[in-house]
Amino acid sequence: MEPLRHIIRHKKASVEFYEAEATRIDNDRRVIVINDISDVKGDVHQTEVPFDYLVVGVGAENATFGIPGVREHACFLKEITDAQNIRKKVMDCIETAMFKDQTQEEKKRLLHMVVVGGGPTGVEFAAELQDFFEDDLKKWVPGITGDFHVTLVEALPNVLPMFSKTLIEYTEKTFKDEKIDVRTKTMVKNVTDKYIEAEVTKPDGTKEKQVIPYGCLVWATGNAVRGVVRDLMSQLPQQMNSRRGLVVNEYLVVDGTEGIWALGDCSATKYAPTAQVASQQGAFLARLFNTMARTQALEAELDELDALSQTAEVAEDREALEKEIQKKSKSIRKIKQLLPFEYSHQGSLAYIGKERAIADITWFNGNLASGGSLTYLFWRSAYLSMCFSTRNRILVLMDWAKVKVFGRDVSRE
Ligand code: NAD
Repeated sequence: MEPLRHIIRHKKASVEFYEAEATRIDNDRRVIVINDISDVKGDVHQTEVPFDYLVVGVGAENATFGIPGVREHACFLKEITDAQNIRKKVMDCIETAMFKDQTQEEKKRLLHMVVVGGGPTGVEFAAELQDFFEDDLKKWVPGITGDFHVTLVEALPNVLPMFSKTLIEYTEKTFKDEKIDVRTKTMVKNVTDKYIEAEVTKPDGTKEKQVIPYGCLVWATGNAVRGVVRDLMSQLPQQMNSRRGLVVNEYLVVDGTEGIWALGDCSATKYAPTAQVASQQGAFLARLFNTMARTQALEAELDELDALSQTAEVAEDREALEKEIQKKSKSIRKIKQLLPFEYSHQGSLAYIGKERAIADITWFNGNLASGGSLTYLFWRSAYLSMCFSTRNRILVLMDWAKVKVFGRDVSRE
């Protein structure tokens, strides 16, 4: 992650940043209500920000599909605090499992790490957790070997539906080698503090109820619409039928509004809610706003030239001004010809553990499917190139080197 303060510091334009939660976007009054949600409270902790133009990029929240017990007992994987909670929970489970006189059955439960959702988030997390066990935990706490166990639960017949069949098979085989248990056709229906209840579809099509005890449960079943977005949608009749988020036109303008754009996971487009799509949408909006600024400046110049040409007394001056006006008008027409947003898919990448990754890459209009250690190096370099700044790139590289030499950090605070 890159602190916003760090990005803003390097901008020439004046940017004001408020660390706050936007709780309401009022389309009629053209204001946003913001709340200071930090632990330290000042005299003012709620106020309004008026806007002329607005870009909504608030992302999504974790989907739980209303399944009882998920919010109370599961860990999520979206915010930095979620990662900290998971680390604390995993270490708590391990230390409690090793508590003096702990029963064998309870030890087994506490060391059972269950990940629900076989999309890229769940797969990458299950792989990383197993790596953590193999590379570090085994050495730090040898007593857990034999009982520490990662299970990935997925409702569909296979994991990673967006990848090609060969890569899905390769992932499932790699998980088998890594001793990660993959339970497909298993739909979680209820969560308690110590076990989950799932409905398993058997090969003959019949359904069976299963109880799976766990110590740490990580929930990764995809995206749901955030409250602030749902509220904006409820103000706009054009958004009534949307389930996935703000419906936008081909220039990313929110349907039913003027001067409000949406991008990333909070918008509903024909594309998957991925970082790759969001980042291209961001670059598109930057081009769009630059175009708007440039045309506004040129139009102002054009007005000035127009006034001058009307008052010019010498015919030659008038002619020169006319030429200049034509040139400027042509530039405006050219700039205004910005094409609609078009997504260019570069491919999908996912880490599957043991220094292996899979990639479905668009290559000279064809597809290239690859998996293994070389793909892992490609995955690492792709992640590095996606860091926002050289500073961040160096920090990430140093983190990787630190982990390689000293292992992962197991402290809880
Ligand atoms: P997802 O929507 O891709 O996958 C969620 C999975 O959970 C689905 O396969 C669904 O069948 C399963 N599920 C839902 N309810 C369930 C239940 N009750 N019991 C069992 N299984 C259940 O979600 P994600 O993995 O968080 O990904 C979200 C988006 O982010 C996707 O577009 C994804 O491509 C993208 N992403 C990409 C990467 C990458 O490219 N490496 C990494 C993370 C996320």
